[in-house]
Order: sequence, then C-alpha cells, then structure tokens
Amino acid sequence: MRALIFLALIFSIYLAEPRIAVFCFHSIPEKVGDDPYALNQQRFLEFLDFLDKEKVVLIAPGESCKPFMKCAQLSFDDGYENHLDFVIPELVSRGKGAFFFWTGEFLTEHEGKIQKVWNQDLMTLGAHGWSDESLMGEDRETLKDMFDKSDLLIEKVSGEVALHFAYPRGERDDTLIEVVRKNYQYEYLVNASYSFPWRFWRERDRLLVFGNHKEEIWREYLSGIALWESPWSWIAIVLFGFLIALFRIREHARNS
Ligand SMILES: [Zn+2]
Repeated sequence: MRALIFLALIFSIYLAEPRIAVFCFHSIPEKVGDDPYALNQQRFLEFLDFLDKEKVVLIAPGESCKPFMKCAQLSFDDGYENHLDFVIPELVSRGKGAFFFWTGEFLTEHEGKIQKVWNQDLMTLGAHGWSDESLMGEDRETLKDMFDKSDLLIEKVSGEVALHFAYPRGERDDTLIEVVRKNYQYEYLVNASYSFPWRFWRERDRLLVFGNHKEEIWREYLSGIALWESPWSWIAIVLFGFLIALFRIREHARNS
C-alpha cells in the first residue's frame, strides 16, 4: 500500500513537471508572398502580444520553467535574412530568448552578419543539417561528416557547442536518430503532439506556426503544457487522493 502511494506521488510529481511549449517559425518577412510557412511581421508581433495576454513566460533556451508557470520557447528554422534584420533585434529589445536552427548553408553565407547581431545570453544556436533537405536514407558517415561540419560553424558563430538538433522537415529514420543522439542532447520535431505520458524528455515537439493560424490553435497547444490544464493531471490527483483515503480507512479499521 505504501509503495502504491509512493508510486502515485511520483506520478503526480511527473505530471507536475512543467512542460515547455516550443513554437516553430520560418521566414518572418514584412509581406508574405507565396511561402505557406511564412508569417508576416505584423502577425508575429501579434503572436508575441498573444503570449503576453495568455501570461505565458517566454524563457530563454537553457532557462528552466518553474512549476505552475506557463512557459514557451520560440524557435526559428532554416535561416532567413529577416531573422537577422527583424526577429533578433525585436526579441532582444523585449529581452526574450529564442532558438535558431539554421542550416550550415545559411551559417556559411551569413557568418559575419550573424556575429554582429548575436546575443549569447538570449539566443541559442542549434543544428539543422546542411541545407534543410530531408536526411532520411542517408548513411552514418555522411550524416556524421555533415554534423561535424555544421557543429564547427555553430561553435564559431555562437561561441557555444551545439546541443540541440531540429530534424529537417521533421523527418527521421533509425540511422538518423542514432547519429543525432550521439551528437546532440535534445531533438526537436514538428509534431506538436504533447502525448501523454511516455514522452521522452530528450525529444521536444514543436508547433509549426502558420500565418493563417487562429489564436485558438495557439491556445489549444499551450493548454497541453500546464499541470492544471491537463485532464490527466486531475485524474492522477484524484487517484492519489483516493489512495490516501483508502490507506487511512484501512489503517483505521486495523486499529479499531
Ligand atoms: Zn527546415
């Protein structure tokens, strides 16, 4: 019985562990052309205001989320000039952090410019392969060489070792997973499935943010991160309470 209560307690603590919502962006141009992944700058600012309105704390990579706090992180994939000209200055002026999963190609082409705007306290540079093409079907050696090459650049540009990796196009196979796990500590997907409860801590799902998203989609995604908003947490808490009551009743019966 005591063991069961202990298990229920551990389970509740597990659920109470704050999860961090990670949003995934691509290009943030002034005006969106025909890029379905792009979000215009006005809409991006509205998104930041939405997070403030929802009392979501935007934490910098590496910063941890406190219990009962709604936490989110922003991530920007592939690499676009507007990340350098617009996104980084905007975030820095608000004191907010973000991940950048730029390709080796983008890093090579924009090295100097990146170093000018880079803010090491707020930003983390993650790996994303060399050219944003799917890495499925590649052999170990090719992947290893590619990662080594991009990791060198990441270290040179940001001054930090790459620990985070976002799968290009969110696609992966067994070989890729194996090499990624040897090279990096955390993996980022674009599934946005906060699936309960056996989520690997090293894997982080992200919500791909589209320009035409209604706020409800963002809100729904955020609802998966907080203890009090998950029905599973309530079930676990009720179960925990029930076990304690049962234990007390049994003990009482034994004593009388
Ligand atoms: Zn990509």
